[in-house]
Amino acid sequence: MKKIAVITSGGDCPGMNAAIRAAVRVALAAGIEVWGIKNGYAGMINDDMINLDSRSVGDIIQKGGTFLGTARSEEFKTLAGRQKAVANLQKHGIEGLIIIGGDGSLTGAKLLSELGIKMVGLPGTIDNDIWGTDYTIGFDTAVNTALDAINKLRDTASSHGRVMLVEVMGRACGWIALTAGLAGGAETILIPEQPFSPDIICKQLVESRAKGKKYSIVVVAEGAGSAVKLGEYILAKTGLETRVSILGHIQRGGAPTVSDRLLASRLAERAVTALLAGRSEIMIGYQNNECVEVPIAEAVGKKKDIDPELYRLANVLAQ
Ligand code: ADP
Repeated sequence: MKKIAVITSGGDCPGMNAAIRAAVRVALAAGIEVWGIKNGYAGMINDDMINLDSRSVGDIIQKGGTFLGTARSEEFKTLAGRQKAVANLQKHGIEGLIIIGGDGSLTGAKLLSELGIKMVGLPGTIDNDIWGTDYTIGFDTAVNTALDAINKLRDTASSHGRVMLVEVMGRACGWIALTAGLAGGAETILIPEQPFSPDIICKQLVESRAKGKKYSIVVVAEGAGSAVKLGEYILAKTGLETRVSILGHIQRGGAPTVSDRLLASRLAERAVTALLAGRSEIMIGYQNNECVEVPIAEAVGKKKDIDPELYRLANVLAQ
């Protein structure tokens, strides 16, 4: 293999730049030419690709987002779109691809391999919802952003004696809510994986006042329901004053944390060495402090659950 390409696709996350940088520099050190595909699969279809040298990935390790750009492409979901994409890669002599993205992007890359392009995926999403890896690139930074917000909201909740509801991202998965909620000392953490009753939440909030708590932090995963509606319900039902903060896309940006930079760099190095060793249709995951190769069909075909131990502990500590 003489030439490979790197692409970021789907939702962006902090650490994508660190992964691109590492992939480019490891490949260059092995004497391989590296191209960067702009704006996800749309750039692959539109032949929007650039040659990358070592300097072109300088000054990006500390930046959130992705300097290659990312996008969502409906055309890529069609066979004709993917054939166009593969024809462009072949025109440039690109034989292998490192794809950094979430579940959708990795699914798309698997289909590319069926058209003759070798691929290795890296799990890049703030949601930490990819099977086969303990952590995804971007998760740690997003959790720290949510935690910082919770810390600040705690100050004002405490001053006014309010119930502060904080809605965090995570799509259909509760990892961000659970982790930030536990680390932020939330009294209640609502995640899609654990059904809850608004009436029981109200009862617990009232009881916690009776126990001497002066204010409450409720972390709500976006997939668990609307924090705004829950806040209105709690006010109507209990008379407790509520305020709601929806953190939104602020969680997708920012300088990647140490953990995310290290994770991205280590996974990317392993992706390049695996590709150069002729492997394909795998994702590099991180399990028990080691990079591991996971069949891509498993990574995109299985659902990653939240850690039930973490959920149990969060509840114990919220007493
Ligand atoms: P993420 O990678 O963050 O999960 P998406 O689910 O939006 O983001 O996927 C990103 C892109 O990957 C889509 O816009 C599409 O081009 C491609 N993709 C997603 N799912 C598929 C699929 N089932 N088949 C082919 N391509 C797909």
